[in-house]
Amino acid sequence: MANTVIIDEIVCKGCGLCVPVCPKKILFIDRSRINGRGYNPSAVSDMSSCLACAMCATICPDSAIRVERK
Ligand code: SF4
Ligand code: SF4
Repeated sequence: MANTVIIDEIVCKGCGLCVPVCPKKILFIDRSRINGRGYNPSAVSDMSSCLACAMCATICPDSAIRVERK
């Protein structure tokens, strides 16, 4: 089972703070998606590479990210 990062797209404000802190560089702002508040949410490019370090969840000011370690 892979680690899982769940991003709440409704809560995410697309600030991008989570992107540079990921040691695996697997987070990005998904410009192809837009949430109900008009923001482009962050997304994961390669879930299988996630270390479940939770750096992304820790830095998110809106607690939009949850990490499950498997
Ligand atoms: S838990 Fe760590 S490795 Fe996984 S997406 Fe977040 S910052 Fe990247
Ligand atoms: S830090 Fe939080 S609010 Fe900002 S882009 Fe990442 S998930 Fe969205």
